Amino acid sequence: MPSTAEDLDRKTFFYNLLIPVMNKYVDGLDQGKGMYLLFIKPEISTPSGLMARPVLTSYYKSSNFRNRPFNRFNVYTSPDDTILCLDSKQSMYCQLLCGLVQREEVLRVGAVFASAFLRAIKFLEDHWGELCSNIRTGCVSDWITDPSCRNAVSSFLSKPQPDLADFIEFECNGESWEGIIKKLWPRTKYIEVIVTGSMAQYIPTLEFYSGGLPLVSTMYASSECYYGINLKPLSKPSDVSYTLLPNMAYFEFLPVQKNNGEVTQQVQRNGGCIKKEGERVEIEVVGLVDVKVGHYYELVVTTFTGLYRYRTGDILMVTGFYNNAPQFWFVQRRNVVLSIDTDKTNEEDLLKAVTQAKLLLEPYGFLLTEYTSYADTSSIPGHYVLFWELKTRGNNDLSKPDHTVMEQCCSIVEESLDSVYRRCRRRDNSIGPLEIRMVKPGTFDALMDFCVSQGSSVNQYKTPRCIKSKEAIKILDSRVVGKVFSKKVPFWEPCKMETK
Ligand code: AMP
Repeated sequence: MPSTAEDLDRKTFFYNLLIPVMNKYVDGLDQGKGMYLLFIKPEISTPSGLMARPVLTSYYKSSNFRNRPFNRFNVYTSPDDTILCLDSKQSMYCQLLCGLVQREEVLRVGAVFASAFLRAIKFLEDHWGELCSNIRTGCVSDWITDPSCRNAVSSFLSKPQPDLADFIEFECNGESWEGIIKKLWPRTKYIEVIVTGSMAQYIPTLEFYSGGLPLVSTMYASSECYYGINLKPLSKPSDVSYTLLPNMAYFEFLPVQKNNGEVTQQVQRNGGCIKKEGERVEIEVVGLVDVKVGHYYELVVTTFTGLYRYRTGDILMVTGFYNNAPQFWFVQRRNVVLSIDTDKTNEEDLLKAVTQAKLLLEPYGFLLTEYTSYADTSSIPGHYVLFWELKTRGNNDLSKPDHTVMEQCCSIVEESLDSVYRRCRRRDNSIGPLEIRMVKPGTFDALMDFCVSQGSSVNQYKTPRCIKSKEAIKILDSRVVGKVFSKKVPFWEPCKMETK
């Protein structure tokens, strides 16, 4: 994505706007700090000589971020040098260390996306012993070799703090990590992470760790452009709407229709045009003030940095207006599909089906922490494969759920998928029984490490809900601890549309 120095000011404007919005709903944010776990990624030089790097790396490395004026409503526990450390493990360790040492000052915690925040909690689960030992002795571990990071942390570890170390050790050593965030950071008022869109699946795990804290999705943004903010930050994740800021880009909207979870373009006689498979198709583009409540659109942006009528692939539904600026519910990112025959399962359909199925596990003390899928066409007929990473609640010694329960989960997923899928399964026999492969803990961290090694940014990483890369599937397959197939053929009967 092209970027310009001037655009950094626009981003700063955007971030600054979030502060008064939060202050309107939460008191006393000037009385402490935010523990935000933020990361950068190495940049590469392109043949043109221009640098290429993820958008957040650009922002955190800019003087807009590093030389930001002091604002007591926006003080972080992480020293900039720990955020700007290129080694993501050292960065994570040092940021958590600083957050723990300043635990009594922390008023809010967060990361950009829910997945990054949960990754930090997992890191804490793996490293709390060492962190406590550093706090106890007042010396940071030898493997923290980045000089600026070491230096930044040392100022927080200027003396041994055995009482603090004992307290953290006691809490982390407890039987269950349920509500651990409230225990370690008792003044926390909310968790600031994006939990809309594909991140919604993390909500139960976040709720498990948070002890009932509000989950706040403040903004809707991308590498292309920062789009809008949430003017009611304390609303339930499912009710979150983002208000587009009309000064961030020139926004247009391609009307789309959503039937049975399928998004289709509305083709019109007049308006702008795009090419589709060699033929010319006329598509009406709607302006910012002309969108209609309840209608679905794909967002199209013309940005200050050089994108012209760029289709973002994001499908939004209009929920209302703030003055004349439209507000949107984020529906999904287009074209994330599983398909074996004529079926097309998108990210939202899959999330819904998985959400139904995982309910079955909860009474047995299992939480689904991560999932992805792929269409296995190596055998005929092909079938959907879901990879599930499960976590036990503190009181459950079993490593995986009963086989029959998992078979039922497979069936519930199938029953929850759309009628085309069920028809293929029941009438056409063109799709085989759905399979769930349970993977061992840490598998999705390995997947993320793989994606990061392929160029994904740690900050912006989102677990792909559908995997196509053979290497990624190999990573998941090598960690499978159990496989189970659906034993029931899902219900299907022809509906009007299909018999026509
Ligand atoms: P990236 O440029 O890789 O950071 O990805 C940007 C994409 O992430 C957007 O186009 C959306 O699909 C998704 N995204 C960003 N913010 C949100 C949000 N608040 N809710 C749901 N999806 C989001």
